[in-house]
Amino acid sequence: MRIAILKERHAGETRVAATPDTVKKFVGAGHQVAIEKGAGLTASVTDEAYTAAGAEISTLAAVLKGSDALFAVQTPDAATLAKLPKGMLLVAHLDPYGAEDRAKALAKGGIDALAMEFVPRISRAQAMDALSSQSNLAGYRAIIEAAHIYGRAFPMMMTAAGTVAPAKTFIIGVGVAGLQAIATARRLGAIVSATDVRPAAKEQVGSLGAKFIAVEDEEFKQAETAGGYAKQMSAEYQAKQAELVAAHIAKQDIVITTALIPGRPAPKLVSKAMVESMKPGSVIIDLAAPNGGNCELTKADEIVEHQGVMIAGFSNLPGRLAADSSALYAKNLANLLPLLIGEDGARAPHWDDEIIKGMALTRDGAVVHPSLVKQDA
Ligand code: NAD
Repeated sequence: MRIAILKERHAGETRVAATPDTVKKFVGAGHQVAIEKGAGLTASVTDEAYTAAGAEISTLAAVLKGSDALFAVQTPDAATLAKLPKGMLLVAHLDPYGAEDRAKALAKGGIDALAMEFVPRISRAQAMDALSSQSNLAGYRAIIEAAHIYGRAFPMMMTAAGTVAPAKTFIIGVGVAGLQAIATARRLGAIVSATDVRPAAKEQVGSLGAKFIAVEDEEFKQAETAGGYAKQMSAEYQAKQAELVAAHIAKQDIVITTALIPGRPAPKLVSKAMVESMKPGSVIIDLAAPNGGNCELTKADEIVEHQGVMIAGFSNLPGRLAADSSALYAKNLANLLPLLIGEDGARAPHWDDEIIKGMALTRDGAVVHPSLVKQDA
């Protein structure tokens, strides 16, 4: 199979879908890899490093010509999609929730598209799970960004000149990103508490040495879906949760919000009034910014100041450590490769495999994902 890698054109995207390490693996297994000139530069990978690993460096047109698959971080822009040869396999983040129009356009172009967001959460797919690999780094980076913006220290310091108090850090939403944020904040010496609507989070938070706070009623006990995600909570639960968060947040210096419900806007959990209850100098990092934000005042890709509280809505935190996030993402793709080829190494996606079935948006000119086909009817 000939695999194409392009420079990412999505605004602010610094990651790249291949590293010299994965190129070497592909080439060693008998595949060809063609990479657009300069594709890795924002992730600290030079063209020379790719060449040394066995890739061919070329222009966009030459990279696409004769390629069987395009591995990308984000959905390529419309101009690039128009240039993809019919029958090409596209594997990328395709923002697939409710994306009927995009899926139809891909199908019309004859592109077989696999969405990385839809890798099923089963053990066999863990090594391909880009949401996890990227969320983990986002959780780490959220704390680093908070520490950078915060005008005080995270650890307690007892010095001859006086004592510096530890930063009180509150994590809202304890999935993959939230757990890494807890671990990172603890490493920096913060006092950490966290909340989630899924009961499974309680033990995980405790095992990381943080305090768990939540409304633990009957609804809480049922809040996890079979896929491990959170359900949309009732208005009654949300009111109780808001009361609890309001009382707790006023005493916090750092708040990291990561709460998401797949396919829905992010739940609004931090109100303007809650922000106003916080001390000047406090920092909120809202990881849900691309989904509308967990905080009422969040603006995507901006740092907003409100009564001395800084609210940062970074929409691509993995892109702020592009070398590591690219390396893990590229590895996710390399781990997926065996499901994309036949025994002879030629392009032959295993359409009946549970993982590929879960990821497939389009195939042979048609939209095939059940979530999109239903809405299509
Ligand atoms: P996510 O990004 O969808 O959401 C982040 C967190 O926000 C979740 O913990 C969710 O429960 C929480 N949340 C949603 N609504 C909330 C609300 N109103 N208030 C507070 N918190 C709220 O989650 P994720 O990081 O993708 O992880 C989801 C689950 O999947 C976790 O249990 C994780 O351990 C699991 N997981 C499993 C695998 C696997 O392969 N088996 C891989 C990765 C993650």
